[in-house]
Amino acid sequence: MDQETSQPVSDESSGAIPLEVGRIEGREWWLWGFAVAVTLALTLGIVSFTFPWFKQQTDAAYWFDLREWVRGLSALVLLFDVYSVYQYLQLQRIRRQLAERDQLFQLISENAADMIALVDSDGRRLYNSPAYQKVLGYSPEELKATSAIEQIHPDDQPRVLKAADKARRTGRGERVEYRIRHKNGSWRTLESTACAIRNSRGQTGQLVIVNRDITERKRAEELLVHNAFHDGLTNLPNRALFMDRLQHALSLSKRQSNYKFAVLLIDIDEFKIINDSLGHSAGDELLIQIGQRLKHSVRRADTVSRAREREELDRPANDDRLARLGGDEFTILLDDIRDPIEAVRVAERIQAELTIPFVVNKQEIVISASIGIASSASPHTQAEELLRDADMAMYRAKRSGKARCEVSDTAMHANAVKRLQLETDLRRALDQREFRVHYQPIVSLQTGRITGFEALTRWQRPERLVPPLEFIGVAEEIGLIVPMNRQLWLEAFQHLRAWQSEFPSSPPLTISVNITAKDFAQPDLVDALRQSLEQSGVDPHCLQLEIIETIAMGDAEKSGHVLSQLKALGVRLSIDDFGTGYSSLSRLRRIPVDTLKIDRAFILHMDNDPENREIVRIIITLARNLGLKVVAEGTETEAHINLLKQLNCEMAQGYFFSRPADHQAMFKLLADNANIRAASTGG
Ligand code: C2E
Ligand code: MG
Ligand code: MG
Repeated sequence: MDQETSQPVSDESSGAIPLEVGRIEGREWWLWGFAVAVTLALTLGIVSFTFPWFKQQTDAAYWFDLREWVRGLSALVLLFDVYSVYQYLQLQRIRRQLAERDQLFQLISENAADMIALVDSDGRRLYNSPAYQKVLGYSPEELKATSAIEQIHPDDQPRVLKAADKARRTGRGERVEYRIRHKNGSWRTLESTACAIRNSRGQTGQLVIVNRDITERKRAEELLVHNAFHDGLTNLPNRALFMDRLQHALSLSKRQSNYKFAVLLIDIDEFKIINDSLGHSAGDELLIQIGQRLKHSVRRADTVSRAREREELDRPANDDRLARLGGDEFTILLDDIRDPIEAVRVAERIQAELTIPFVVNKQEIVISASIGIASSASPHTQAEELLRDADMAMYRAKRSGKARCEVSDTAMHANAVKRLQLETDLRRALDQREFRVHYQPIVSLQTGRITGFEALTRWQRPERLVPPLEFIGVAEEIGLIVPMNRQLWLEAFQHLRAWQSEFPSSPPLTISVNITAKDFAQPDLVDALRQSLEQSGVDPHCLQLEIIETIAMGDAEKSGHVLSQLKALGVRLSIDDFGTGYSSLSRLRRIPVDTLKIDRAFILHMDNDPENREIVRIIITLARNLGLKVVAEGTETEAHINLLKQLNCEMAQGYFFSRPADHQAMFKLLADNANIRAASTGG
């Protein structure tokens, strides 16, 4: 049915005739009333002739007037009668037209395939065309007992109500599609338009609703879309749909660094032989069964991925993650994994599951599959490139003996190239003396005096000053940290000597240097330190070695030996980032440590997190009980300082006092510090 027929009672056509009828009927009453009044008056006049009192009036003029009056009135009555007859005929014509139209509407609505309903303002059904029973199965009585909205799908009800409301306000609602329950419990999809009927006062109350059953059309449309994106044989998503999903996942991984995924490309080994020997229909049946088994594997794979924990992610729907690319090639998008190694585990499990024999035409078939894996760690931005990587890995797996799984090495390759470059650059940086020492003061909270400095490495590259966290790890892995640190010690010790002679104090200024596990493992650590100290003329007591908990608490025998050697040299020991590692308190008591440096993570949140504050308090108490000094790292605000003072923390280091800077900046800082102290002591 087209737009025209879907509105059998439109505003204009339905509203015009009743209005005209009303007008004519109103006029008719008025005319009849008037005619009766005039006729009465005339009758009265004629009757009066027969009364004797009138007969006594013999005045000729009077008789003449009376006659004229009667004649005039008779003419008027005649005129009214003619007009009334005309109006009556008019009314009859309109009534006939109305009846015809009513009959036509009846005919259309009774025979139309579309369901036509008349509902009142409360949604009560006043009329339902017979098509309702044909399409939805309800008898007219059953329909009458329900409201028009009841059988509509709850999700669609708001839209339908909105359209009905609009129809009431504007006379015509929007076309809506909604689901309605068939008497047999199934859902049908209807397309519906509502129009309002206005009464003689122009108010809208009732709605005429025309519904068309579009269930089949919808199904056909869905089927077309489904066919376009699914493989006809296995009914799995096809290449087009998979590539779309893959591209989506790839874009997401570029936006969210913690979102990782992998693509598994599965190719059945020797499928051609199976196909040729058993026939194509058996080959098809086998592919269907493989598809089903893979589907099962993908569902299980979900338990290894974090997909369920991260519903908020705009991730591909569960069933779209397995696809048949064509032939004997299947592919899986393993979504939201923690590590590419998970993909390898899933691939191995899939391989194991595929080796369970299949039964086709009562014949057992044993297959194997080669799997190539590519992951979101690759630098690619296009789904095709990623799939090509997986494809290449799969061919490598085939070449190296089938039934294997290989990971694409593009990502690994890219990482390796980057890493190799960094290593080369680091070695060159050491030769070219590109490392700089920056210092951060450590301040006594009681006196405000700078008691010493921590030496922190920076790498001066042409484009920027690189912070240590970007290269220390690699430098440590390749053993470069050892010569790097030794270079730094010498420079830092010399700077310390200069500050000490410029700003003598008691106790003298100290220097803290960070010692890594690699440094710690060097058999000549103590000798190297001694040599640097001697060379620069720094008193060993002025050197603080910062080591992290795990090194200090590590192998008791080995570390204990080194620590006591260092102690014998006269240097002091600090435990860096205290609170983040694992410290055994009994061991802490036995190792020759002088200072605990509270990790900055606790300090940063100390003012708004009572738990962190408590940890800081406990570390300070612990240090005091063990007779150790304590330094709070990462103090950034005055609130931190005030809290630390309340907790009786001895020393602090952080941006509040100064960011790490070069030795000249420290000279200036020391000068300012000396002035402040001189002023505060009245000197
Ligand atoms: P660390 O020894 O715990 O050094 C303290 C780090 O905290 C420094 O970062 C410093 O800049 C930062 N810091 C200081 N005050 C604040 C503050 O108020 N707020 C915040 N958010 N941070 C603050 P940096 O210089 O990036 O050093 C990072 C780590 O690198 C150091 O941690 C240390 O473990 C290592 N490192 C730095 N230089 C060397 C070195 O020459 N040799 C060795 N082996 N390791 C080093
Ligand atoms: Mg440190
Ligand atoms: Mg630290």
